[in-house]
Amino acid sequence: MEKESLLMLPGPVPMPERVRFAMSRQAINHRSAEFGAVYADCVRVLKTTFGTTNDVFVISGSGTAGMEAAVANFGRDKEIACFVNGKFGERLYKISQRYGKAHEIKSEWGTPLDLAALEAQLEAGAQVVTLVHNETSAGIKNPAAEIGKLARKHDALFVMDGITSVGGDLVETDKWGVDVAIVGSQKCLAAPAGLAAVSVSARAWERLTKNPPYYLDLAAYKKSAAGKPMETPYTPAVPLFLALREACLIVEEEGLANRIARHQKMAKAVRAAAQAWGLSLFPKLDAKHEYATTVTAVSYPDGISDDAVRATIKKLGITIAGGQDHLKGKIFRIGTMGAVSAPEILATLAATQHGLVKAGYKIKGNGVEAAAEVLE
Ligand SMILES: *Cc1c(COP(=O)(O)O)cnc(C)c1O
Repeated sequence: MEKESLLMLPGPVPMPERVRFAMSRQAINHRSAEFGAVYADCVRVLKTTFGTTNDVFVISGSGTAGMEAAVANFGRDKEIACFVNGKFGERLYKISQRYGKAHEIKSEWGTPLDLAALEAQLEAGAQVVTLVHNETSAGIKNPAAEIGKLARKHDALFVMDGITSVGGDLVETDKWGVDVAIVGSQKCLAAPAGLAAVSVSARAWERLTKNPPYYLDLAAYKKSAAGKPMETPYTPAVPLFLALREACLIVEEEGLANRIARHQKMAKAVRAAAQAWGLSLFPKLDAKHEYATTVTAVSYPDGISDDAVRATIKKLGITIAGGQDHLKGKIFRIGTMGAVSAPEILATLAATQHGLVKAGYKIKGNGVEAAAEVLE
């Protein structure tokens, strides 16, 4: 019997059968009306998930390719203010260092961002602001709307990594003044890994670099997308586009508002379980700040081994994530994104509870029951 582990990671996530089947068909011509229609379906739904009427392009490459496309096209040789409160903020900063003059605005991982420091950077001439909306490494959601306002006030471009929020949480690219937003296919959209989508505002186009990268030249994507049929500049990962189209149609069928509500409920259930067990969430937030709704990061109590806990969970057929970099061994992370719902969450929490108990932790209460109360 084929039996893969249930992936409850913050991406990649389990894919609906329709999405998997879509990838297994015979090759099609990527310069054809048929492919053009596939691309157009993806873009139509992605615009809804991004909350934008801006241009949206799909790039063959993982989420990081989308991040690099954003910075390389719109941040080249510019003063870039980069918010960092986790691994992916750090990645945007590192990419920005390659292309422009990057200035890090650093907070401890999982702690709120320093907006006053951004104002100072903007007053000192920052032309681009980078932000990770949902910092997957730490389980914190950053205040994109507020940051968008500050960027606009100082006429800076706003680049936002929405890789684990678009398609699973509320993202309002246009309303928040996001000039370039990015999503990856393998997270909340529940499509296979390997595609990134990028939205670009009219303001951003006006400030396009004259020295663009080659493969990630977004002006080339714009030109090809405007053709009949709609195309990409180079041969795209066609099977992944076919799968992404199916994943997008599923988003449309569910309805974005329902999908967001489902994601919020799942994260709430995981938080309820952690609280019942007597564990703390990794981000220490006051009422003004928010936890991520697509991944929950929980701190291990002293003396409880991450390896032991996750090995037990793995034995039960489920995979959750540990911490990255300096958080390795300190936290575990449960992804609640994509097509999963109560059955997967309850199984994951039951396995996690068992893993914690077996590793020697005395749980305060029944986390599975607390989660079921939320999910019921
Ligand atoms: C997963 C993730 C990425 C990186 O995407 P890749 O597909 O691994 O390149 C970037 N940002 C965030 C917030 C992520 O969660």
